[in-house]
Amino acid sequence: MIIAIDGPAAAGKSTSAKLLAERLNFLYLDTGAMYRCIALSVLEHKIDIYDELSLKDFISSFKLELKTVEGSPDFLVNGSSVSKKIRTTSISKKVSEISAIPAIREYMVSLQRSFAKNSNCVVEGRDIGTVVFPEAEIKFFIIASVEVRAQRRKLELQNMGEKISLKKLRQDIKARDKYDSERSHSPLKKAINAIQIDTTKMNINEQVNHMISHVNLKKIGKNNK
Ligand code: C5P
Repeated sequence: MIIAIDGPAAAGKSTSAKLLAERLNFLYLDTGAMYRCIALSVLEHKIDIYDELSLKDFISSFKLELKTVEGSPDFLVNGSSVSKKIRTTSISKKVSEISAIPAIREYMVSLQRSFAKNSNCVVEGRDIGTVVFPEAEIKFFIIASVEVRAQRRKLELQNMGEKISLKKLRQDIKARDKYDSERSHSPLKKAINAIQIDTTKMNINEQVNHMISHVNLKKIGKNNK
């Protein structure tokens, strides 16, 4: 079974997707982290993403692996763990531009499909229910107000030792929303059959319980068929 979770930046997707996967004993695939990994590598190697040939060369040498370390997913780029490095604000700022490039998306989508192949998986991103797994059994679209999203991101960054103002975070989030929803290749949008959840006034437990109740309803529906 594939459970697709889409929605804008910092709406609560990652935390709820991870907990949902744990409770259901499913694999958890964070596709935003995958785009962050390729963005990190593009920046480290100073690749001109608008030069078709160098981008092609770069993609053919880029190797991304997903491992589980002490119960948590860990991404390795060309053999090295990058899970911490990809969360900085400098990556957050560049990732949307880099992930809008069609050749990068095509490569990532095929990798995402191969990571989730033959397993029960909670897959989180922007285009999971619409493009990557349009046949997913359950699709959620998670939203929250910009104010709450900025506050959540501030806390997350604080825990990593990074300090940034709420004003700056609101601006970054709005800019990312605009980029992600207006790009021509697989923009962020709610799949027609996705269940929308507004998490502005929900805590994480309420979010996960709400999602589990939909999963259980789906399972009951399947068994009655
Ligand atoms: O989920 P997260 O905020 O870590 O994602 C980082 C960025 O990766 C998003 O802002 C978006 O530009 C890109 N992304 C995407 N498609 C996905 C997942 C993420 O374009 N499926």
